[in-house]
Amino acid sequence: MEVVPTKTRIAILASPGMGHLIPVLELGRCFAVHHRFLVTIFVVTTDPSTAQSQLPHYSSYQDLLDIVFLPPVDVSDLATGLSILSQLVLLMRRAMPILRTEIAALKPRPSALVVDLFGNEALEIADDFGMLKYVFNTTNAWFLALTLYYPHHDEADKHDHVYLHKPLNIPGCAPLEYEGTLDLNLRPDDRLLHEDYAKMGLDMAKVDGILLNSWEGLEPKTLKALRDPNSMGRFSSVPIHPVGPLVRPVKPVGNSVCQSKVLDWLDLQPAGSVLYVSFGSGGTLPADQLAELAWGLELSQQRFVWVVRPPSEGSAFGSFFRQGKRTEDGTPDYLPDGFLSRTREVGLVVEMWAPQTQVLAHESVGGFLSHCGWNSTLESLVSGVPMICWPLYAEQGMNAAMLSDHLGMAARLREAGPGVVVGREVIEKMIRRVMEKDEEHGKLVKAKVKELKRSAEAALAKGGSSHGSLEQVAKECKTGLTGLKERARGA
Ligand code: UDP
Repeated sequence: MEVVPTKTRIAILASPGMGHLIPVLELGRCFAVHHRFLVTIFVVTTDPSTAQSQLPHYSSYQDLLDIVFLPPVDVSDLATGLSILSQLVLLMRRAMPILRTEIAALKPRPSALVVDLFGNEALEIADDFGMLKYVFNTTNAWFLALTLYYPHHDEADKHDHVYLHKPLNIPGCAPLEYEGTLDLNLRPDDRLLHEDYAKMGLDMAKVDGILLNSWEGLEPKTLKALRDPNSMGRFSSVPIHPVGPLVRPVKPVGNSVCQSKVLDWLDLQPAGSVLYVSFGSGGTLPADQLAELAWGLELSQQRFVWVVRPPSEGSAFGSFFRQGKRTEDGTPDYLPDGFLSRTREVGLVVEMWAPQTQVLAHESVGGFLSHCGWNSTLESLVSGVPMICWPLYAEQGMNAAMLSDHLGMAARLREAGPGVVVGREVIEKMIRRVMEKDEEHGKLVKAKVKELKRSAEAALAKGGSSHGSLEQVAKECKTGLTGLKERARGA
């Protein structure tokens, strides 16, 4: 159906990383298709061509959206040792002058600016141009609650969490056990990092609305607390709009050899038999951990597709691996000798990148060993695939706790953690627990994930909660009148 745009234009800002760009494009697509908005997406990235090549349906997004890759920001002078979050904040800050110029040139002027988690620096531009301002929290409500509460945390509580590993309380929500803590709590002395994160929470509390890539049925308790003026609502009265799960739709794949090879291989496997292993758009493991994972997969005797990347150590080993040396049977030399030959009948190793949404939607896939990035999580959930959680960084530990302990749709590799090498036997056992047909734990997580899949479908359907939330935000963008302003007028 042809999309006939009306005059309402909105602008959306994506911060660097596929994990941010992918949900932002999906949000833009929803506004363009369902509400016929003109949508301009501004993308901050250090590497536009990689971003474009990794999006299999990039051209179909271009047909619907005005996608502007801002000129890459030079960050070569940044101090070494900065946390990822502080690097992102600085990168975004440096992109602001050009973003301001771009927005000033847009005709008609967008009625609203939507920024993702790291775009708070741009909210000032929205103020200057009289635009509504929204934050799109590309993760879940629990992480949002932590972020909003972070600047107000009791210092003694924080101290006990960081140094004594006690749970961190979040009003009205599940407490955060130390096992799943944010990686910033592993760097307690990094003042800049803690200030940057606190500022995100403070800025977010001043917008016209927070969109969330989650839905009412997934996190009812947390959402209730966020809206309760006697609970989390004390720290922010901003309306919360859960619009998820927004994930890339599964469509026929493009011409890439790698893509069709994976799906062709999956076509030959029995239903529900394959474990998909991937650590997101940037996740890597140290060399010794990579080897143990390879052995664990082999010992489990389960079928697998593994998206593998060279190990993460910089130093001498790093450049050695970048030469791409291989052993006789083609096994990259960071995997155990002969791994490809020994697993040829049951496994497929894909180097660097796979068409993940298509892989997860394939009927041969029955499990996902994942770093628990929120997009990967949602993609698994909407395909009804149970997960094994192996969190690496950022808020992934929280996601893992939520998926395994709160929702029961995943098994968690509790042994994994910073500086720990999880042994092959532990990995083997966990894979068997989820993948083997007569394993009780596997049956339970499978049933739970199917239930959540149905709940997600209901939320997105016409009349569903996420569908309604998006309609509300679209109405605000059209009229310029938000829930907060309406409330203020009535008062
Ligand atoms: N992705 C993909 N192929 C890969 C690895 C990742 O298509 O080989 C996509 C994945 O489908 C997801 C995104 O990259 O949409 C990763 O986002 P996520 O939030 O899971 O993790 P992040 O990369 O931000 O850590």
